[in-house]
Amino acid sequence: MVPKAFLQGILLAASFGSLFVSAAPSLSLSLSGAKYVNAVGDLKVTATLTNTGDETVKVLHDPHGALSDMPADTFSIANEDGSVPNFAGIMVKYVPKVAAEEHEYTVLHPGQSVDVEHDLSSAYDFSSSGEGVYSIHANTHFYIVDPSSPEGVSSVYADSTPHIAQISGIEQQQFDFGSDTEQNVFNATAIADDFEDLEDEVALEGVDLADDEEADLAEDDDDVKTNASFRRCSSRQRRLIRKAAVSAQRYVRSAYNYARSRHGSRNRRYKLWFGRWSPRRYVKVLRAFKRMNQNRYSGYTYDCSCRRSGTYAYVHPDNYGTVYLCGAFWRAPLVGKNSKAGTIVHESSHFTRNAGTIDRAYGHDKCKALALRNPNVAVRNADSYEYYTENTA
Ligand SMILES: [Zn+2]
Repeated sequence: MVPKAFLQGILLAASFGSLFVSAAPSLSLSLSGAKYVNAVGDLKVTATLTNTGDETVKVLHDPHGALSDMPADTFSIANEDGSVPNFAGIMVKYVPKVAAEEHEYTVLHPGQSVDVEHDLSSAYDFSSSGEGVYSIHANTHFYIVDPSSPEGVSSVYADSTPHIAQISGIEQQQFDFGSDTEQNVFNATAIADDFEDLEDEVALEGVDLADDEEADLAEDDDDVKTNASFRRCSSRQRRLIRKAAVSAQRYVRSAYNYARSRHGSRNRRYKLWFGRWSPRRYVKVLRAFKRMNQNRYSGYTYDCSCRRSGTYAYVHPDNYGTVYLCGAFWRAPLVGKNSKAGTIVHESSHFTRNAGTIDRAYGHDKCKALALRNPNVAVRNADSYEYYTENTA
């Protein structure tokens, strides 16, 4: 004999359980396109996102999600041999909370779908992987607006179906970096791989940096050049960029100095953003800041044509010195958390010749969690460098 109250409890739990399941947002993503593609330039897929739940959802246009057609790293692609085309697209600074506030999302009612076409040849270089039968998967992670969450958004993973396409005719792909109006001035002396020595030193306890490091630093005083090139920027925007570039320069100088003068447990800022200290990871961070500190941020090329309100900026990592600024950049404070100066630092860390960082975690909370969970990735993550330089908790 089962007590009645106990049974009722079970029934209650069961009905709450089913209520919870039916209320959870649910998305389905499918990819479609031509099965046979004779030229990589024709490799287009249509992503169809459907709201399979029974609530209306607002899905953000995350640059790394199928609702954005920006050529960010949204797809995972491999042929039957397991060869993967090189990613040749853009790296974007994005803060989901800001994008939600800017209403940069698509509203999907229950059962409703939206299609977005993607040109895969603008983000992936198939000459590295060759002809073949490719399996194309889209990132299944989506942010939806969630006022009950402190970040203003929550994550939903869509059920997904990949697209299979046979590609023949791999021609030389052109990746459009825009037209540079003026060659950016990069006057750093070739950065010798003098860090091999440093690495050995750091591996020993009681680290002390060599004197020639001090000499490097002495060159980096306040004579910041103001020969930036601007593309499609208003005079107001130019003024804001010039200030932000000067502040970005101060940020990286101070970050570099701090990183090299404090090691191990004495550097709490390092631990917060890059996680547990190890000589190998520390040298990676130090090398990144050293190279960034040798950039002249006031000599970069700034392009103001991007109009996306929820996005801060993006770069092509191999196109050193050109930064594309988007809507959220103009509303950001000059310095501090997610600032203009910090955004420029973030973008500069993506340049292959600086640190070639990736965007694995965005925002303070996610970056702190990343440092704790996976310091090896934190030292490769662009926002982690930005937050280290901004130094706001
Ligand atoms: Zn980024």
